[in-house]
Amino acid sequence: MKKNQAVVKVMQPNRDQESIAALMEKLLLKVGEDPAREGLVRTPERAEKAFRFLTSGYETDVASIVNGALFSREGSDGMVVVKDIEFFSMCEHHLLPFFGKMHVAYLPKDKLIGLSKIPRIVDTFARRLQIQERLTQQVAETIEQVLQPRGVGVICEARHFCMMMRGVEKQQSGTVTSAMLGAFRARKETRDEFLSLVAAKNHPFY
Ligand code: ZN
Repeated sequence: MKKNQAVVKVMQPNRDQESIAALMEKLLLKVGEDPAREGLVRTPERAEKAFRFLTSGYETDVASIVNGALFSREGSDGMVVVKDIEFFSMCEHHLLPFFGKMHVAYLPKDKLIGLSKIPRIVDTFARRLQIQERLTQQVAETIEQVLQPRGVGVICEARHFCMMMRGVEKQQSGTVTSAMLGAFRARKETRDEFLSLVAAKNHPFY
């Protein structure tokens, strides 16, 4: 061998046969790939890591997010709306991503929650195998349990890879789901206020 010649050694990973990585290697074989070729050698480990992250919501405890982030209302009783919360989730029927935006509102009674906690609650449920309807409902019910507010409204707009890439192959179609609890269900005025705040196009900050 010439001096200074680069030596590329491909290390074969020593995989636990029960691991997600081992299953991913089998998947590569099943689709007709060669898991030993250079580009794919570490793919099972990378895919395991990605998959564990995308499902890490199963291990997140909502109580630990909310801990120390609840405040007494002290006067303010207007609607709190956190708009355009980006989320990425995985459809439980096809194990393909769906993603979009969530708008979360509540009408406080005794307690307020730190605003940054609401996107973390969304992530906790998005990082599980989901259907959009249940994801929307779980976010609403969690806010209701934690804050016991006068009402909660959640609207979720999403696009599903299982619709875009396969099946009907409709790239532009979106799906909207909502969950309205308490005053958001009972009072049209409350619901309308939420919908108009979500629909307001001109953001006051940019
Ligand atoms: Zn699907």
